[in-house]
Amino acid sequence: MKIEGIEVRCDACGKDLLRPPSGIYAMPETKDRTHLVYFACKGKCDKKLQEQYGWGGWSDLKDLFVPEEYIRRQMSFMNGLRAGDKYEEESWKKVRAMFMGAFVSVARESTKEEQERAEALRNMPDGL
Ligand SMILES: [Zn+2]
Repeated sequence: MKIEGIEVRCDACGKDLLRPPSGIYAMPETKDRTHLVYFACKGKCDKKLQEQYGWGGWSDLKDLFVPEEYIRRQMSFMNGLRAGDKYEEESWKKVRAMFMGAFVSVARESTKEEQERAEALRNMPDGL
């Protein structure tokens, strides 16, 4: 399965973060509850973008490729929309690219390692 034209790149250096999955995404919020989304390599690029956009938590892009985690984050994202979260135009496109890019990998059986990771992630408190 392949979805053409989907790209997720570091907003600081341009590195492809989908092939293979790496880096993080963050969703800093402005005063009017509008989210800005950025993708970054861990470390220097993330630090630079964090200074530019502000703190927005962070999540591993790689974890989005774990099937159980993919659908959990989809639902969490949808619940946010229902609760009134808004996304700046370019950020909305980024969120879509991120979910579409990961979908090709999650539309299959999870490996034993992924099942263990999903279990570990489920046991973490929300918001980490
Ligand atoms: Zn980078």
